[in-house]
Amino acid sequence: MDVSYILNELGEDRHQYFNAIAPPIIQTSNFTFPNVATMRADLQHEHDRHFYTRGNNPTVKILRQKLAALEGAEDALVLASGSAAIGSAVLANVAQGDHIVSVAKPYSWTERLMRDYLPRFGVTTTFVDGTDPANFERAIQPNTKIIYLESPNSFTFELQDIAAVAQIARSRGIVTMIDNSYCTPLHQRPIELGIDITLHSASKYIGGHSDLVAGVICGSEAMIRKIFYGEYMTFGGIISPQNAWLMIRGLRTLPLRLEQSSQSARQIVALLESHPAVSRVYYPFSETHPQYELARRQMTGCGGLLTFSLNTNRIEDVDTFADSLRRFILGVSWGGHESLVFPASIGFAIPDENSHEPTPPTQSGFNLVRLYIGLEEPHVLLDDLKQALDGVLQQSIA
Ligand SMILES: *Cc1c(COP(=O)(O)O)cnc(C)c1O
Repeated sequence: MDVSYILNELGEDRHQYFNAIAPPIIQTSNFTFPNVATMRADLQHEHDRHFYTRGNNPTVKILRQKLAALEGAEDALVLASGSAAIGSAVLANVAQGDHIVSVAKPYSWTERLMRDYLPRFGVTTTFVDGTDPANFERAIQPNTKIIYLESPNSFTFELQDIAAVAQIARSRGIVTMIDNSYCTPLHQRPIELGIDITLHSASKYIGGHSDLVAGVICGSEAMIRKIFYGEYMTFGGIISPQNAWLMIRGLRTLPLRLEQSSQSARQIVALLESHPAVSRVYYPFSETHPQYELARRQMTGCGGLLTFSLNTNRIEDVDTFADSLRRFILGVSWGGHESLVFPASIGFAIPDENSHEPTPPTQSGFNLVRLYIGLEEPHVLLDDLKQALDGVLQQSIA
């Protein structure tokens, strides 16, 4: 199935709604039944009938079909956020006494789930350096149920060899899952590499317009049904029909947006790598990336999110740099139309579990700056970065 068929046609039964090109937002909580027998039958097959919108909704269903097809999966679920998707997929596959092997430094709230939350229910996690697949193998215990990947991660962009880790897990019956938010299914297809479940924060590229928060779980029909009747229906962290519609609309232009963001990012990386105010660039498709070969092997493209270290040991320089950008907007998240800057000098946002104080920036990481390259004309972004970087140089000479 080609991508444009998936984005333009798949799941859209237009004859059911006046042959309108855009699907309707079925803004309903409830569905009705002509008689008791139908109602009974529909309840028994709630995963593919219309009973109540916490289960299925026709607008959401169109989106589910498109997302599953993009990932090469049998089925998909869409949830209220990326974190809801990750939490549901993980919880569905562990019970008291089980063990997870996770790549080190996954997305912050994923780490919080595994490090602080799951131990309350007797589920423990070993975090491993994911750059060597053997580290996953060594950490496996008899009770290991999940191997969790995020390749690349969205701050320092370490990769895992997806096919190699999937093979290690397969032979032992361990469920593999990967956070594929950075790549989107257009740049990386983990299910084809042997992964069981792919997860997304659709708040990023898939939504693409910085106007919604959503998450996606893709997997086999059996796995999706298990999560549907488990965490999905139980916790009820569903997407609204309105937001599902916005995601369908956003998906129409995903290939174009991704291409523009990636093309501009390449030019930005070239500028950063040649500028004396920059000491290191983190970007999987840069030849300076230590896993460049692996990135080229398992990713068909590389997006517009990248990080660099500012060549300074003064935290004020990082703040000044970020404040002096005029077109990059200070903000978290990424994947929308607008370019963003996120300086690590703000400290990491997740409050300490006991003191509830934000974690201060680490001594080694405060000079990291993450940029998201949006859809502006590339020369506008290049000029803006150049003036801000030149400013840092002048400041350090002064
Ligand atoms: C943003 C993000 C998440 C969390 O998604 P939300 O939609 O914000 O809940 C998870 N993983 C990655 C890589 C992300 O960037």
